[in-house]
Amino acid sequence: MTKENPYSVLFEPVQIGPVTARNRFFQVPHCNGMGHVRPQAEAAMRGMKAEGGWAVVCNQETEIHPTSDLSPFAENRLWDARDIPALRLMTEAVHDKGSLAAIELVHNGNHAQNLFSRAPILAPSDMSIDAPFPKQARAMDKTDIRNFRRWHRDAAVRARDAGFDIVYVYAGHNMTLAQHFMLPHMNDRTDEYGGSLENRVRLTRELLEETREVVGDTCAVAFRFAVDEMLGGDGMQAAEEGRAVVEMLAELPDLWDVNVADWANDSITSRFQPQDGYQNDYISFVKSMTSKPVVGVGRLTSPDMMVSMVRKGVVDFIGAARPSIADPFLPQKVEQGRIDEIRECIGCNICVMADSVNAPIRCTQNPTMGEEWRRGWHPEIIAPKGNEDDALVIGAGPAGLECAMQLAKRGYQVTLAESSTELGGRVLSESRLTGLGAWGRVADHRTHDLRQRGNVQIFTQSRMGAEEVLELGIANVFVATGSKWRADGIGRSTIRKHPKVDVNAAIFTPDDIMAGRMPSKGPVTIYDDDHAYIAGVLAEKLAVEGYDVTFITPESLVSSFTVLTLEQHRIQTRLLELGVTIICNHTILGVTPDYVQIACGFTGRVQEIAGGAAVLVTERKRETALYDALRDKGLRTLELIGDAAGPALIADAVFAGHMAARNFERSKTDVENEWFRREMPSLQMENL
Ligand code: ADP
Ligand code: SF4
Repeated sequence: MTKENPYSVLFEPVQIGPVTARNRFFQVPHCNGMGHVRPQAEAAMRGMKAEGGWAVVCNQETEIHPTSDLSPFAENRLWDARDIPALRLMTEAVHDKGSLAAIELVHNGNHAQNLFSRAPILAPSDMSIDAPFPKQARAMDKTDIRNFRRWHRDAAVRARDAGFDIVYVYAGHNMTLAQHFMLPHMNDRTDEYGGSLENRVRLTRELLEETREVVGDTCAVAFRFAVDEMLGGDGMQAAEEGRAVVEMLAELPDLWDVNVADWANDSITSRFQPQDGYQNDYISFVKSMTSKPVVGVGRLTSPDMMVSMVRKGVVDFIGAARPSIADPFLPQKVEQGRIDEIRECIGCNICVMADSVNAPIRCTQNPTMGEEWRRGWHPEIIAPKGNEDDALVIGAGPAGLECAMQLAKRGYQVTLAESSTELGGRVLSESRLTGLGAWGRVADHRTHDLRQRGNVQIFTQSRMGAEEVLELGIANVFVATGSKWRADGIGRSTIRKHPKVDVNAAIFTPDDIMAGRMPSKGPVTIYDDDHAYIAGVLAEKLAVEGYDVTFITPESLVSSFTVLTLEQHRIQTRLLELGVTIICNHTILGVTPDYVQIACGFTGRVQEIAGGAAVLVTERKRETALYDALRDKGLRTLELIGDAAGPALIADAVFAGHMAARNFERSKTDVENEWFRREMPSLQMENL
């Protein structure tokens, strides 16, 4: 790196206690649905981040004891020495690429359900657990507190033995015992661990001191602390107790990793917080109160913003979870001045969704995320082409764009044909809806890449029929023609009893609204049987534009899928604030020009919602006409990919495009027989 590089400050080494990070890029702890169940997969994923230039690579919350059992979720686990070898896989993978490995030790208190261990649940005071389970946590007595401190010390020693360079004490996300003790609404103790802030911080202070005592000569001690709960006066605030905690503990850790609570605020989606660096206002005071390095996050993808944050003294380290998932090679690209190649996170939280359902991590922008070990995929490297020379990709939505880009990287002559005037497909239309602007990054990244390449020809306004395809004479064809929303109301809830839709009714689909075909002003009923974000976004748009909106869903929550992306409560709140009438647990029976008829999902009681237009958000129909017409035309390769093969998330379309490009010219038998490697439970009976 030359002195003139405007980003050189980001590549200065930084001392953290007894260890030194080679630059300022810090992958903060993040969950990934792999953990103790899939340790090889986690190790390879973390190793990839190190290869991409993240100087510090953390794992995720690591249970220190059976009383902090997060089952069924696959976090990391360090209950005893038998867990060390699985964690060592990660430290070795990270060290191998020259980075430091950090471990986030945790006791989850009443956030753990202990479903596997069936151990008692511990908390500062008697209280319900943090889940809708009929279970309560008990107030820890002095013996429990002594035990907890010992478990934490022992886990720190095991972490060092597993090869970790940095050991965390974790008081954040409203998920950990250390933080629970600090929060007055969770701590009504009258002993030296309750009452004054100093007393409520006592346990954290002990954890920090004792971690240093047992491993501090070789490992740095990091403290992850949520400075603000973002609840105003109803919670801990950066301006008050948050600041006081930093002041009290200022020099105790070797590193401050600061953020906001809870997880939905820390990892807020771009729909509700479009601004990168959105945590700066909360955390910027920390550096003035400690001489120790500070790491902060906030969906940081812009190197200019990173430099300014370091120069202004907001942070010493650029922290990232999601930006490092979307682009594990972000630091390397900055170092090499390849800024326009950064695959920017779009803030959709599909990565979070996977963890929330205990599936391996995935990412909308980075289809290789989570596939490093099991499929051997590298985010920046793909096998060169085989015997074939060219390929035609039809449809430039996320599937077609990703497929074309990867085929081009492999060295084929790629022709990309798109019927509309612009590239992007559904990503482009959706990105024009309120709050979804960042979705456009999926198309921008790929379009930009394709336009740089000499072996790619792009044709817009080129609707392809079978004849046009055959005229081109390209024998390898990938059909990514997408899907269209259906207008007949058929979907998940109406599969047994199709709704009766009067031909004279004013019916609209999301495609209509996104294309600007709007109902006439007045009442509009939205029926959501899709449950992801689209119906909620459309309801918001229509309400903002002055329509009188009624939102009907068979689910008990608006946009229920978005619980998994941490934004459901925000969506429902926003619709209520906009005056949208919400009717849950109701299924559509029919639509006439005068009313929408619905029935209660429990009693079957029928209601008629009077007047206006109906927007039906139920299912999509696959666009397969072109594929069907090409089937018997003797093409060497004919593949249907993306939403045309199976309507799903944008992340799935990108993944399908990537997979098709990787599999091109692989033998069909290999593709059939080798889905991916799996981590099998050991059946060995020794050392159990
Ligand atoms: P996916 O999510 O699978 O990528 P999209 O619906 O986002 O699917 O994109 C499909 C794209 O294919 C759209 O941009 C659409 O205009 C384009 N398309 C559909 N049929 C044809 C066709 N026959 N010729 C060229 N482009 C097509
Ligand atoms: Fe960002 Fe979405 Fe990828 Fe998560 S899934 S890292 S939020 S682009």
